[in-house]
Amino acid sequence: MNIEILEKTPFTLKLYVKDLPIHVLNAIRRAVMSEVPVMAIDYVIFIENSSVFYDEYIAHRLGLIPLTSENASDKYKSPEECAEAGEKKVFSTDCFVKLDLEAEGPENGMLTIYSRDLASSDSDVKPVFDNIPLAKLVKGQKIKLEAFARLGRGKEHIKWSPVSAATHKYVPNIIINSENCNGCGKCIDACPRGVLKLVDGKAVINESNLLLCSFCRLCEQVCEPRAIRVSHREDEYVLYLDFTGALSPRKTLIEASNILIKKLDEFEEKLKNLGVIQ
Ligand code: SF4
Ligand code: SF4
Repeated sequence: MNIEILEKTPFTLKLYVKDLPIHVLNAIRRAVMSEVPVMAIDYVIFIENSSVFYDEYIAHRLGLIPLTSENASDKYKSPEECAEAGEKKVFSTDCFVKLDLEAEGPENGMLTIYSRDLASSDSDVKPVFDNIPLAKLVKGQKIKLEAFARLGRGKEHIKWSPVSAATHKYVPNIIINSENCNGCGKCIDACPRGVLKLVDGKAVINESNLLLCSFCRLCEQVCEPRAIRVSHREDEYVLYLDFTGALSPRKTLIEASNILIKKLDEFEEKLKNLGVIQ
């Protein structure tokens, strides 16, 4: 298996993966999206809300704020234990982080409440971004609330996913028969991604744009001598992950791999217990 980093930023990771079957790559992608636990606000107690927004609307917005969770799985109980405690409204400190918010509209003008106005009981668990607007208040309006965050998984609700996008795409395999190519340039004009170019009167691949190919096949359609064919390479993919910032890319991938390994170990153990394998 070969892996190459195509793009890496604090919030994105693009990998070129070769010689890995699609079902294995898909299992990793799904584990990243749905299985890796992060913190998110799950319960909100409104003490006062005279803003124009319903309680539910504000609670929903609060739930979708990514919270830093790098150390959370070591410090707090599992999502299953905490979900049960939350249902009983027992906001114990081994499960929940409390975030307080209190704001009042000014005498003149308007106040915007941002994610940074949430005061967390744990400095390890706070909004990833300071500047997410939550609500606006004018004179006479007030919001006072207590929010409780717990660990959860993306399969329960997307607010607990460490990624906002996790996709993979095929790597194009474009074959141009230069003997049949008459250099008309129609495929170059038709291609919306700049994947093709003309060199010495023949269509060739613009390698720097190859991965931008969307498999639209417009180039094939306009090529009268049928000199161009678009397909995809076997067992070569581009994995793209867009992180919310709740976890670092490194921690997310390590956790996802460990979860997959644990599930496979459990599966093997069960098969052994049933006598299917030895
Ligand atoms: S459309 Fe076909 S014939 Fe024309 S340049 Fe492209 S590959 Fe060559
Ligand atoms: S399939 Fe579409 S994007 Fe890809 S090379 Fe052909 S025209 Fe361009």
